[in-house]
Amino acid sequence: MHDVIIIGAGPAGLAAARWCDELGMDTLLLEQAEQVGGQLHQIYNAIPNYLGLDATNGKQLLDRFNDSVKESEFDQWTGVSIDSIDLRARKISLHSGEQLQSIAIIIATGVRRRALGIQGEKEFVGKGIIESGSRDKAQFAGHDVCVIGGGDAAAENALSLAEVCPTVTLVNRGRKLRARRGFTEQLTTNHCITVFPESVVTRILGRDRVEAVEILRKDGLKPFQLAVRGVLIRIGVEANSDLFREQITVDDNGYVAVNAEQETSVPFVFAIGDVSNPLSPTIASAVGAGATAAKVIASRLNAGTFSKHGRS
Ligand SMILES: Cc1cc2nc3c(=O)[nH]c(=O)nc-3n(C[C@H](O)[C@H](O)[C@H](O)COP(=O)(O)OP(=O)(O)OC[C@H]3O[C@@H](n4cnc5c(N)ncnc54)[C@H](O)[C@@H]3O)c2cc1C
Repeated sequence: MHDVIIIGAGPAGLAAARWCDELGMDTLLLEQAEQVGGQLHQIYNAIPNYLGLDATNGKQLLDRFNDSVKESEFDQWTGVSIDSIDLRARKISLHSGEQLQSIAIIIATGVRRRALGIQGEKEFVGKGIIESGSRDKAQFAGHDVCVIGGGDAAAENALSLAEVCPTVTLVNRGRKLRARRGFTEQLTTNHCITVFPESVVTRILGRDRVEAVEILRKDGLKPFQLAVRGVLIRIGVEANSDLFREQITVDDNGYVAVNAEQETSVPFVFAIGDVSNPLSPTIASAVGAGATAAKVIASRLNAGTFSKHGRS
């Protein structure tokens, strides 16, 4: 029996684990990936808005996070696969056969990129599907590319690729881009970038690698093909709440509902970070929510609101 089990070791889970340990709780941090860090592994640009560290990329910030937790005594299991979970009983079964139980559970499972679900998207991973504009642009220098999406991430990646690609075609399902004004202004003045509004990519085509995309414009009768060497997809994210959705209140998009104490609809079960915060999916919010959940759990343990077997 642990005091707290935290599921997910991104910024939220790591911060919560650090705080739970500091507050004297027996803490177990579970991560499905082989390494902790969550989305920090996908950030190749500087992170100036997480104050105090001026990290040049996610890897550097993660190194600093790992430095900050290395003296902590919480248990950290990576490469863990959860088979089933009973939130009310706070019992977790792992695929390896282990049974775990805790007084409180913290869900910190974050979000994943939304997939388009079209032909070529999976087949051409590593063969023209661009993972990151800033990281991979050298590989696509001199080639025409397509970016799918209309938010900040799509715009930022399109601008990055336009530094080295002769043409960048931005295909956006909506009439207007959702990206922040600073990005849309740059997009409209950049002569390498063409925006196709009210259009969708229906297929990614090629023999051994990406050679073209098939685009359907709302006003067009038939899809047409555009020759490109690379395709980058940024059409939003989805909450990693599939494991819990049947047992807990989530919003229409699957984000876990929490109160001001980060507690979910199930007592003793908390949710922190991006999985419960579509309004501010940021490192600062994730870390802050981790501290809140840890403090709330510690104060209830000290007050005797919890016992080893649940509410006393
Ligand atoms: C390209 C990019 C740039 C960004 N730039 C910034 C920026 O400049 N500033 C900023 O503040 N934020 C930025 N962000 C957002 C920031 O990274 C996230 O807000 C933050 O990582 C959220 O932390 P989290 O711990 O809630 O979730 P995540 O980082 O998503 O971590 C969740 C973890 O839970 C694990 N997990 C999921 N399901 C399970 C399960 N069933 N069992 C066990 N483990 C599980 C995942 O493997 C993952 O490690 C950026 C994100 C991206 C992708």
